[in-house]
Amino acid sequence: MRRKIVAGNWKMNKTFQEADELINEIIEGLEDANHKGVDVVLCPPFTFMEMTTDYAQESEYAVGAQNVSSFDSGAYTGEVSAKMLHSMGVEYCIIGHSERRKYFNETDEQLTQKAELLLKYNILPIFCCGELLPEREAANHFEVVKSQIENTIFKLEPLDFAKVIIAYEPVWAIGTGVTATSDQAQEMHVFIRNLISEKYGKEIAKNTSILYGGSCNAINAKELFANPDVDGGLIGGASLIAIDFLKIIESF
Ligand code: PEP
Repeated sequence: MRRKIVAGNWKMNKTFQEADELINEIIEGLEDANHKGVDVVLCPPFTFMEMTTDYAQESEYAVGAQNVSSFDSGAYTGEVSAKMLHSMGVEYCIIGHSERRKYFNETDEQLTQKAELLLKYNILPIFCCGELLPEREAANHFEVVKSQIENTIFKLEPLDFAKVIIAYEPVWAIGTGVTATSDQAQEMHVFIRNLISEKYGKEIAKNTSILYGGSCNAINAKELFANPDVDGGLIGGASLIAIDFLKIIESF
């Protein structure tokens, strides 16, 4: 059975004190919230990783990173390796987020290297894909997502691919307040699942969690998550407010 996952991507937000406060509000909320069967993942900036993994030992969430180096170790100033993340108890890592593709020119080759290194250190990649607005308007969205997937995570061996979580994040929906409709999300998730089925077989496709991301919030999460192929969400803005994030988790 594939897992239901709600992951919060904090991006470059919060001070140390604010992050501490947010984590504590989430911990408290999770004690009361009905989140049975939903895996909750917090993805803070690296600076708050130690605090987040420390608190995680006593609470009901797992920790993810927002990025990882495409190099294993060595003289790469400013980089953080998969091995380091693993040694801190990090279990997930977002890769291929559109902001990293856009501002840091991440290539398919680097993303493939990142996925391989994460899996080497037992960290589950949350692989983001999604089209730009002009690409959707030109009805190219399926082709774009297909090539993003084929050029990266489809290079993995089946046993490795089976550990990957996919996040479909239409770029025009990220941080804009414009979310994909429930039908648009379901349609793309089915498309992605069919691609997986053709490449790795029905069983792996059936068991792959495909999350939706892009202005998912406490109000629209229920409708999005009601789709049979939407297995949860990658949440940006709404994950910075504990009460909203908790409502999203309870939307299943
Ligand atoms: C994201 O950045 O992954 C995201 C989904 O952001 P938001 O929820 O703010 O659109």
